[in-house]
Amino acid sequence: PAQLVLVSTPIGNLGDVTSRAISALRLADIVLCEDSRVTQRLLFALGLKAKLESFHDHNEESLTPHLLEAMRNGRKFALVSDAGTPLMSDPGFRLVRAAVAAGLGVTALPGPNAAVTALTLSGLPPHPYLFLGFPPPRGAARRTAFAALRAAETAGLSASMIWYESPHRVAEMLADLQTVFGDRPAALARELTKHFEEVRRGPLSTLIAGVEANPPRGEICVVLGPLDPDADEPEFDLDARLRAELSRTR
Ligand code: SAM
Repeated sequence: PAQLVLVSTPIGNLGDVTSRAISALRLADIVLCEDSRVTQRLLFALGLKAKLESFHDHNEESLTPHLLEAMRNGRKFALVSDAGTPLMSDPGFRLVRAAVAAGLGVTALPGPNAAVTALTLSGLPPHPYLFLGFPPPRGAARRTAFAALRAAETAGLSASMIWYESPHRVAEMLADLQTVFGDRPAALARELTKHFEEVRRGPLSTLIAGVEANPPRGEICVVLGPLDPDADEPEFDLDARLRAELSRTR
């Protein structure tokens, strides 16, 4: 039995809540959440009541020892974010690390995640992929971060890359991507699972022109194609080739 359950919640469509998530929220003694109003709304929509405790980047460190103590005393906690999978650009990593180190039971209930949803819809190779969270908000730091990834490509990395970005910064961010990576295939996924879900696909230059003409609103993920666009092929080719070779030599 887990003392700490990581519960993924919808990223915009209540229908995506899983039945395991509902049971976990019902069974938890305490639900750790970011914005209690957001989680309260979810619980209300599900017809649930729960004791909420606020848990965010600023109090994670100081709360963790008390939470571990309560877990040792048998209290069951569920951790949720405002949306999606906890820890993924959201609080929880330090608590999980500490709970694991303390030998407490931790489990995760899979569910909605904007990054993976965007990746699968992008039409770009799904693996290998790098999830990079939010890029640095300021231009110079952002370009430095992108340049480090570009340098890793020079050293042999070829992976699709996924970022979260705010609609106010997405134009600058795409421009920086083009400066650093060139005019590569990319995708902009917006308002996933919601009424205005939209995925724009194309070379960065096309996405940039599109953002200028029609600035995207709402929640956005950006996916950049890998250095080697056939990155996803070789392992399948290899399998097929091995089978062909084996049947030929038999
Ligand atoms: N933990 C969440 C998850 O698993 O997806 C992500 C939390 S992060 C603080 C919030 C960011 O995720 C947003 O700014 C946006 O970039 C992205 N995001 C969340 N919901 C989204 C959606 N419905 N469509 C596109 N992007 C979304």
